[in-house]
Amino acid sequence: MTPEASPAGDGLSLSPELLAAVHRVAGTEQLLVAMDFDGTMAPLVDHAADSRALPRSAAAFAALAELPRTTTALISGRALDSLRAVASPPEQTLLIGSHGAEVWMGPGSAELQLDDGQRELLAQVRQQLAEIVDVAPGTLLEDKPAGVVLHTRLAADDVAEDAVAAAKAALQDRPGVFLKTGNRVLETSVVHASKGDGVAFLRQSTGATVVVFAGDDTTDEDALGSLVRGDLGVKVGLDFTRAEFRVEAPAHISELLEALLRERTIAVGA
Ligand SMILES: [Mg+2]
Repeated sequence: MTPEASPAGDGLSLSPELLAAVHRVAGTEQLLVAMDFDGTMAPLVDHAADSRALPRSAAAFAALAELPRTTTALISGRALDSLRAVASPPEQTLLIGSHGAEVWMGPGSAELQLDDGQRELLAQVRQQLAEIVDVAPGTLLEDKPAGVVLHTRLAADDVAEDAVAAAKAALQDRPGVFLKTGNRVLETSVVHASKGDGVAFLRQSTGATVVVFAGDDTTDEDALGSLVRGDLGVKVGLDFTRAEFRVEAPAHISELLEALLRERTIAVGA
């Protein structure tokens, strides 16, 4: 069945097994609904600043955020500022940015602080990547609080490959520098963190008895791999995954969140 076959958001394009899992997790004591943003809440776009959540996903996610015994979180590779700008998250929603290196747990939450060594290392990494980007048309750098990202989405395939290979050769053995390869991006960070760390931190700090997580990219596998029995992990797209469930596209995440909202609203008696 295609997504278009189910315009009313009745979850009919989700598998019966996935809907049964939604029903099961909705009854838990303390629920954490943690979502990747780009490619999961929002369709992928060429220009990162243009990314927006699908309206149905945003609405269901915001309604979940209002429910008792229910915490929402976004876990993104984006820097927190960038995530806030595109996601406009509900005020109760917890935010994990920079693949786990940045954490926002509400008003008064401390900002990420790099030590002197990390700041120096970050400047060196930036310099080396800048030299690579200078000779690789269509590639560009994005600065984050704990790292620099090499974007190759707008470069020719061979240019992109060469730039990523050069960056890896320059940086992969550098102590204190951590690399992640994503969809036409190479992420560098001077803070060791992953989306799995982000899920573990949120699970503990919210007292979640069940975690629901969905993501589309390779870095989301760290989060999906950190899930335990009773959690619900969903992969968006056709790539390899450790997730128990898979959907094709962000439109199905709308259906998933709407189904979860219906079931959770009943379960908490809201
Ligand atoms: Mg993503």
